[in-house]
Amino acid sequence: MSSATSPTMNRVLDLTWAVLKDTPTLQKNDLHSSIFKNRADLDRIAGYTTIGYAPQLLGILNNPLPPTPDTLASLPTDFHDRWGVYMLFLTKTQCRPKIYIGCATSTESFKVGLESRYSDYDLGNWPVYVQKSIDEGYVVEHRLVLLHCPVPSWDDIFELRPLFYAMEAGLCYAFAAVLAFQGNFALSHLSVWPLSTLHIDGLCSHNALADGIALPPLPEGTPEDLILGHTVDRLEAKRARDRARYHESMKDPKWRAKHRALTKEYQEANPDKAKETARKTYLRTLALKKHFCPECSRAFASNKDLNRHKNGSKHLAQISIRLPEPL
Ligand SMILES: [Zn+2]
Repeated sequence: MSSATSPTMNRVLDLTWAVLKDTPTLQKNDLHSSIFKNRADLDRIAGYTTIGYAPQLLGILNNPLPPTPDTLASLPTDFHDRWGVYMLFLTKTQCRPKIYIGCATSTESFKVGLESRYSDYDLGNWPVYVQKSIDEGYVVEHRLVLLHCPVPSWDDIFELRPLFYAMEAGLCYAFAAVLAFQGNFALSHLSVWPLSTLHIDGLCSHNALADGIALPPLPEGTPEDLILGHTVDRLEAKRARDRARYHESMKDPKWRAKHRALTKEYQEANPDKAKETARKTYLRTLALKKHFCPECSRAFASNKDLNRHKNGSKHLAQISIRLPEPL
């Protein structure tokens, strides 16, 4: 079930290719367009590692009837120290079950992959609509693993991490785990089963192909063209374009207002994350001495704070110490 040519792998990569092909270029991360030029690229990159699949997965995907909650609940649960594409399965009495599909590919802390993601969840950091459902009385009953692989070596991460995001998108649309499917959505033809036959709702808020993909930092002095230079260059070019687009948009007062509203909404939905981000920004601003009083050798968080300080008694006292004593 985990060899490079298994029927399960073919099925999953077909679904992955379908979403890569049908998602408009502007709606996906440039990495996907540059790495996956055709279906064979998926086989090649998947061949870098040994991907294990849930034994039931092929049967589920090939069944003309959509999976029942019991079928899904029978999927494996425990591959903690591995990368994976997983499914959260939520239930509430008298209500249709809900699913969320995500991928976990972290390598950056002492906990990796699924273990790292699950420990985030243990702390209550759920995806937005999963949290919303929990607030409405749903319970995350299962964390199910659809596919998994060992944490890859450093140079394989450049292509395997994008592959996992793409497989997440492929399975997300295949299982119709998309929130928008409850309305009408451009990629709904990618669902394996007719939407009207489903008895499970989706909680994924967007196409995973649009997500930012963090790539490992290059060691100091590495010629970038030696390590998939085109990928890294494209990523840098995209970042520069995103920054330029952001600054351009911010000139428009309407856009600024919308941005402010969205930020506020996000901060209210994620107070802890917002606090943490604010704290980091604050510390970085201080460390960079963006608003600095040289006389007092003090850094401030904003220009406003700096100006207030310059009109304050401490600053004036400090200057007067430095002024020559009047004769
Ligand atoms: Zn001062």
